[in-house]
Amino acid sequence: MRGREVFDRIPEEVCRELESIVGPEYVSTDPVICQGNTGFGFGHEVYWFQGMIQPPSAIVMPKATQEVARIVKLCNRYGIPFTPTSTHALSMSDPIFRQDVIMIDLQRMKKWEIDEKNMCFIVEPAVIAAMVSAEANKRGLYYIICGGGGVVSAASNQYQHGWGHFNYRATPYGYRRVNGTEWVSPEGDVYRLGSLSVGDDSWYWGEGVGMNFNGVLNGQTAWCGSMGIVTKVSFKLYPFQPEPLEPEGIGPDTAVALPPRVRYYNITFTSHESMLKAIEEIAETDIANIVNVVPPFWRAMSKCRGDREFKADFWEAWNATAPEEATQVNILRVLLIGRTSLKQLEYEERVLMDIVGECGGTVRRTRQSDEATFRYANTPDMWMMTGVFAGTNAGWEGVECVRVQNELFRDRLGALPFKNDWLDQKKTMPWFLMWDRGRTRYTELHCQPDARQIDPEDPGFNPGVVQGLVPWVVSEGPYVCVKTGCTDAFAGLVGSITEVSPAYHHYADWLRTFKKEFDPKGVSGTAWPNQIDAILQQMPMALTEESRQIIKQAEAGPWLGNPE
Ligand SMILES: Cc1cc2nc3c(=O)[nH]c(=O)nc-3n(C[C@H](O)[C@H](O)[C@H](O)COP(=O)(O)OP(=O)(O)OC[C@H]3O[C@@H](n4cnc5c(N)ncnc54)[C@H](O)[C@@H]3O)c2cc1C
Repeated sequence: MRGREVFDRIPEEVCRELESIVGPEYVSTDPVICQGNTGFGFGHEVYWFQGMIQPPSAIVMPKATQEVARIVKLCNRYGIPFTPTSTHALSMSDPIFRQDVIMIDLQRMKKWEIDEKNMCFIVEPAVIAAMVSAEANKRGLYYIICGGGGVVSAASNQYQHGWGHFNYRATPYGYRRVNGTEWVSPEGDVYRLGSLSVGDDSWYWGEGVGMNFNGVLNGQTAWCGSMGIVTKVSFKLYPFQPEPLEPEGIGPDTAVALPPRVRYYNITFTSHESMLKAIEEIAETDIANIVNVVPPFWRAMSKCRGDREFKADFWEAWNATAPEEATQVNILRVLLIGRTSLKQLEYEERVLMDIVGECGGTVRRTRQSDEATFRYANTPDMWMMTGVFAGTNAGWEGVECVRVQNELFRDRLGALPFKNDWLDQKKTMPWFLMWDRGRTRYTELHCQPDARQIDPEDPGFNPGVVQGLVPWVVSEGPYVCVKTGCTDAFAGLVGSITEVSPAYHHYADWLRTFKKEFDPKGVSGTAWPNQIDAILQQMPMALTEESRQIIKQAEAGPWLGNPE
């Protein structure tokens, strides 16, 4: 530690106690290091640039569960908020809006074990998803990597979303994959949940005796560090095929070569309707492992392979694309896996070709390598176009519901006079893909402002962009979701849970009841689930009148014509 300024945001005696728990080399209050641990994602850059997001007051790095528990107890004793972070790839672990938060950085906790016979993986928080996937693949098994990238913590992703392309066939939700969990409660007690409740050698089955508390920890976006800390988790792996996925290329242009029993198909269709028909048939015939629709600007984006130089090429090509041309692009990407044999793949391929033929599609030449699905090395590409990757919303629902929601979003975005300020999507449909063997659709509604225009220190700063952007990200998701009955899975992340909750049976009241019960001092996590409320306090106009009205209307019922 340096001079007295390091204790500006945290009492010195707390620092000394932290040092005695983990050793002085694993505590830092250095303002520069703390500033370096302030992250962002999903468009939260805009709040950081405006000076709303604060760095932690201290960072502490425990090595073992007992150390985590002692730190949490210490925080409770002094009433100091803490937030855990596993790899810090996502903004939610930021101690935003407060200056007194201790960040519990779990990167020293990186033990793992794989139980091949019982098809499960046991990890501590710092074990990253790409490694779990690679180790599983070596044993003919697979693990779902999420779009957040191969670098995210496998443990935290079990509880923060846990979604990926493979939700088409394996299992849609993270909680169905969890076997057992070791958990440090918000008050610092250590519990063993699920299969672990019956003993250390029971990592491999899905439940324990009696009620399984794991359900309280899970959810769409779950608790984001505000319901204690998971220090170990065992989750299921799924059968794959025996051949290895060979790495190829040099960073950042890296991929894995697909073995013969794993094959991708890029298929184009002459109309959106014929593509939807093909998707329906694929679901009915119960083939395929991934069924993904590629929006036209994503196709251009995926070519950049982590290279900023690509940016100019992208804009040149995208600016020259007329909206009529963009809306004619209908690309479906399908992954087949011969899990049992090559014959299975060949059979599924024949079925797929029949469907493509019937629906008037064309199979394009497809590189048999992958940079997304299996290791997700290409996530940073999402930032390449503009420097910011902002989400307006995400969620999944029945096919028809998501279609209506997507169309509404497309039309409203297309009608905005200032749509060029965050990557004009040219009236194309937002990204969606199929889950749960075609029963549900997952979608993300993106907007990508130019980082230079939202940074007050940049010569290109344009305050009008910030004033347009914040109401759009805060209000548009709730609006299109409530209006169409779609889930609002980014509530709390980009929109306010407090504001939208009345439209969904006041579920925020339940969240607060649980939170109070398990975290009476309110020290676990700092932002969740109220972080967007803090933004609304500073920018009340960000919640538009239109959104307020639609929420009120849904709360009053009847909802979407439902008379109940
Ligand atoms: C561009 C982008 C795309 C994304 N796409 C997807 C996607 O397709 N699917 C998907 O599932 N997710 C996606 N995510 C979300 C994200 O990658 C995951 O939520 C991931 O789990 C974050 O992992 P992390 O290691 O970075 O976690 P951190 O940033 O370390 O933490 C994430 C949150 O979990 C809490 N936390 C961390 N560790 C623990 C712990 N041990 N116990 C309790 N709480 C903890 C933190 O406080 C924080 O709130 C995306 C994120 C980005 C930025």
